[in-house]
Amino acid sequence: MKATLFRQHGGPEVLEYTDFPTPEPKAGEILVHLRASALNRMDVLVRNGWTGLKLEHPHINGADGAGEVVALGSPLPEGEGLRRRADGSSLAHRVEAVRVGDRVVINANLGCGKCEFCQNGRDNLCRDWHLLGETIRGTYAEYICVPARQLYKLPSEFDFHAAAAAALVYQTAWHSMVKRGGVKAGEIIAIVGAGGGVNSASIQVAKYLGAQVIVIGSNQRKLEQAESLGADILIDRSKEEDWSKAVFIATEKRGVDVVVDNVGTTFPMSLRALKKGGRLLTVGNSGAPRFEIDNRYIFAKHLSILGSSMSTLADFAEVMDLVVAGKLKPIIDKTFPLKDAAAAQERLWRGENFGKITLDIP
Ligand SMILES: [Zn+2]
Repeated sequence: MKATLFRQHGGPEVLEYTDFPTPEPKAGEILVHLRASALNRMDVLVRNGWTGLKLEHPHINGADGAGEVVALGSPLPEGEGLRRRADGSSLAHRVEAVRVGDRVVINANLGCGKCEFCQNGRDNLCRDWHLLGETIRGTYAEYICVPARQLYKLPSEFDFHAAAAAALVYQTAWHSMVKRGGVKAGEIIAIVGAGGGVNSASIQVAKYLGAQVIVIGSNQRKLEQAESLGADILIDRSKEEDWSKAVFIATEKRGVDVVVDNVGTTFPMSLRALKKGGRLLTVGNSGAPRFEIDNRYIFAKHLSILGSSMSTLADFAEVMDLVVAGKLKPIIDKTFPLKDAAAAQERLWRGENFGKITLDIP
């Protein structure tokens, strides 16, 4: 098969479009012919490498992918490969439930399927957790094998690029805002940053839930794009350096119920912008991982800081149902051919995109 891979860490020049052996499905796995992949910032971080990251080279980037089922592995023994909902009910999704020719989107959040968390529907807490494209080979390739439970079946007319663009960011936003944050209709949500995939998904999820949305963006162009997704109040942080004050004024000195902060270094201002009893939700740190916060805000204002990563298999199915129903609409910034993944990653890293960058796979 063709794949864009790298043999050593480094800049975009280490990416190589070349031949790589097509994987074969093991028991419980499905071979998917990928037709679209979508980029995430993580792809660039993995390509650059970090201390302690141990990969089997050559490595293939990419968490998001959608395509057609082309082969099935043998079924797992009875009782294995089940996925469970948080209420304890089981939702079988085994090889037997998949057919050659099915159109599918992949959930990159790989639980082991066996540990106590996976068995209790909390698979993003798995003891042996992997993320496609991070710790194991991903979706910048013509073919990939994944366990059957990682697949969501798409309706015949649904676009592969839209599905790939949706998978990681919507499940992340959904789990954080709905399951961790308990965002409700009528609440006011501030979202720090406007350009990233999770942030634009968060705007749409908040609006779907009936919340009011304030977006703090770095420039007018990104804020206009956030407005097109439904943001109600826009704050330009290039003009309002202390944007927590602007949030306070916009909410008539009330503060907001929830801040979605995936920047990290902006925590001090996010904590200031929250009302008493407010929640700060975080799934990442595009700014930096280390910063100082004033503990007095947390106890004096009864604040909660709630972190999460990705979602559960049940959350993924829930949010993809909304995506295919057209209630959440993935935004695609630009599509590159698979062989031009380096140029695609450069665009992402420069922050020029609004919405997802996807790769077209032949
Ligand atoms: Zn597990």
